[in-house]
Amino acid sequence: MTPPIPHDASPALQVLGEVFGYSAFRGQQQAIIEHVVAGGDALVLMPTGGGKSLCYQVPAIVRQRAGQGVAVVVSPLIALMHDQVGALEEVGVHASFLNSTLDNAQAQAIERELLSGRLTMLYVAPERLLTPRLQGMLASLHERGRLSLFAIDEAHCVSQWGHDFREDYLQLSVLHEQFPGVPRIALTATADDHTRADIVERLQLQDARLFVSSFDRPNIRYTLVEKVKPRDQLLRFIRDEHEGEAGIVYCGSRKKVEETASWLAEQGVDALPYHAGLDAEVRRRHQDRFLREDGLVMVATIAFGMGIDKPDVRFVAHLDLPKNIEGYYQETGRAGRDGEAADAWMTYGLADVVNQRRMIDESPAAEEFKRVQRGKLDALLALAEAHDCRRVRLLSYFGEQYREPPDVGPPQGGRSPLGGQGVPEGLTVGARCGNCDNCLNPPSIWDATESARKLLSCIYRFQQHGQQNHGARSFGAGHLIDVLRGKASDKVAQYGHERLSTWAVGADMSEQQWRAVLRQLVSLGHVVAEGEYNTLALTDSARAVLKGDVSLRMKTPAEPTTKRGRTVRG
Ligand code: ADP
Ligand code: ZN
Repeated sequence: MTPPIPHDASPALQVLGEVFGYSAFRGQQQAIIEHVVAGGDALVLMPTGGGKSLCYQVPAIVRQRAGQGVAVVVSPLIALMHDQVGALEEVGVHASFLNSTLDNAQAQAIERELLSGRLTMLYVAPERLLTPRLQGMLASLHERGRLSLFAIDEAHCVSQWGHDFREDYLQLSVLHEQFPGVPRIALTATADDHTRADIVERLQLQDARLFVSSFDRPNIRYTLVEKVKPRDQLLRFIRDEHEGEAGIVYCGSRKKVEETASWLAEQGVDALPYHAGLDAEVRRRHQDRFLREDGLVMVATIAFGMGIDKPDVRFVAHLDLPKNIEGYYQETGRAGRDGEAADAWMTYGLADVVNQRRMIDESPAAEEFKRVQRGKLDALLALAEAHDCRRVRLLSYFGEQYREPPDVGPPQGGRSPLGGQGVPEGLTVGARCGNCDNCLNPPSIWDATESARKLLSCIYRFQQHGQQNHGARSFGAGHLIDVLRGKASDKVAQYGHERLSTWAVGADMSEQQWRAVLRQLVSLGHVVAEGEYNTLALTDSARAVLKGDVSLRMKTPAEPTTKRGRTVRG
């Protein structure tokens, strides 16, 4: 039951209650809406699920009622236009869209509605908005004072730094010049400084008021696990935690999407594939089923998800490392939009790190661009390797300092409520959310400095030994770990590596522990894996670790589920 809205409430609050049936604004909605209703420009940064749509829908309705005409909503997402227009018409708001799915007669009918001034909201794709035809109609409305506002949704599409860049968005700066005095509200869930600066500059929003909401999604539990047998780990996660519930599984390639979807289906999970290589018709069918049926798992590339408003997605899983934290946060943000508990779960391993580094190195992009991409990858790897609160790290990446909510603060006795054991040795004392893997099961930490030095010097010895004996050769992870652990093999015999000073210096550690140390060193950029065979080499920064100037603290790896061969996992 929605409590009645008093008669003397603000027009915005009245619209919220009468039209949408909600009794209160969330977060910064009210401030944003009042600012736009009054004619101001706004840049709104709000996480997925935060309630961005109302920030322009309510002003559109209020301003239309005040005789200020139609609001134009620019969106790149056809599916989202359809959904929103359908929902608005259902609650009695006259809204339409213009996009490539309409035939001429349909488009003309909508254009007539637009010019008549009866329409409250018009959704358009950016390329449509920029056509001379529509520009002409908007100019005529503008002259008559019947253009109430522009909303630019998914505004990060204007930025070349993100993975959603759209050429047409660059042209949206003309709105400012052609339709002076019409308020503009740009909205996005991507919040890093780079993207934000791009939006301001390219959309000429220098005078817009900035509204930054907390990016925290307290109902999402973050878990990042080491890749051992990823499919089995995924299946166990789904069966143990989300049997019969809707979720999205992101994979790095189309092939892996197909394989994973059919494998899950064989295991009895209701799973469908989705990627840009599938027929448009198949994609539409799978998306529709995912939205309408209960408990489907969509296995997809990142082609799936932008604008998917399914409130009860209970988990988002990543089988491969996303490109950066923005991508990770947007993808995981599709879980739990209804505010109920949801999981963001990811497996990652050495191969992920190596592949992502290589993709950047080998891309034809400009060096400046690569430098930014490397920085973003480093931040993601630091999140993956972190042994402290994931949420604190995520939010600080978006420039936000996480504060523990009052009811999670230390209870009587001054102990942490999260297990009551206090802070484990080696964990930085800081805020803890209580709803991520590291907060729920604080990992034990070990000092890996010595081990890291052993590993680095072993790679160094390979190079030296190679130059003296059989030409410069270098070796991959499997062989390196064999030598460290003193495990005989044909290759060891062939190259005489049992004579190296680093032979068997790490026999006390498991293969998995060594793998974790190596992954950490690759993540930190002290070691690179090169060429077709992932041969390992030291970088300049390895010197500081070898000299003992840098210390390394690591999580104790989880017990491996099965003992497996020596291939690079992941
Ligand atoms: P975003 O576009 O930021 O991802 P939406 O606009 O789709 O988020 O809103 C997410 C969900 O929250 C929707 O189901 C919406 O109806 C709901 N919602 C938004 N604002 C409110 C509010 N003030 N009160 C109740 N529900 C709200
Ligand atoms: Zn936490």
